[in-house]
Amino acid sequence: MPATDAFVRRLHEILLRVSDIQNQIDRGPKQLQLAQTQLQSAKDAVLQCKESIKQKRMDADRKQLQQREREAKLYEWQGKLNAATNNREYQAVKEQIAADTQANSVLSDEIFEILESIDAAQATLAELDAKLLVVQADTAKAEARIQERMATLKMDLERAQSELKAAESELPGDFSDTYYRMVESRGCEAMAPLDDKSCGGCNTTLPPRFLDQLRLGNPIPCPSCGRLLYRPE
Ligand SMILES: [Zn+2]
Repeated sequence: MPATDAFVRRLHEILLRVSDIQNQIDRGPKQLQLAQTQLQSAKDAVLQCKESIKQKRMDADRKQLQQREREAKLYEWQGKLNAATNNREYQAVKEQIAADTQANSVLSDEIFEILESIDAAQATLAELDAKLLVVQADTAKAEARIQERMATLKMDLERAQSELKAAESELPGDFSDTYYRMVESRGCEAMAPLDDKSCGGCNTTLPPRFLDQLRLGNPIPCPSCGRLLYRPE
């Protein structure tokens, strides 16, 4: 007994459903990864900002130390200035004092700028921390949603697969081998519904004798793509 087109249509409908559910399940890990990536980049942004603040602080500390050292030296120069015994010595010390004072003033400006940028970075850090909390909550929600969806999809898949098994147990003997061979190599692309006068898989217009066969309810392979054609409902 050859397969009727109602039977092929039912098989194809189940195969499409199985494939659709499987595709959704396959996308699960990617969706989870995407959620994790967003969380990681929010964490990285906080860490980077903290590291930048740490570097700025070290920079400011170094410059402040340098400033104190120079101030101590200025104090020494001042003593030497007072103890200068001749004009040449006096002038030399005075020039040194002027140079160091100028250098310290530049350093002061630099320190001020760094402290300002630490303030700005701390404001940014507060924003990034707040954003991280939101992303953490969103990620947890997204993960729970995806897990729940996966559990549902797995049940749907089992149901569809057992429906497929049941339908396949009714395969007529002479169609069985062909069917399994087709599905093995092409999956749910092994069949296609007739679309008006064309193949619903490759859009090729079918010759009249093919249409005649299909109108009689006999599934027939598309002469162009080989998909087993059947009438749509
Ligand atoms: Zn075709």
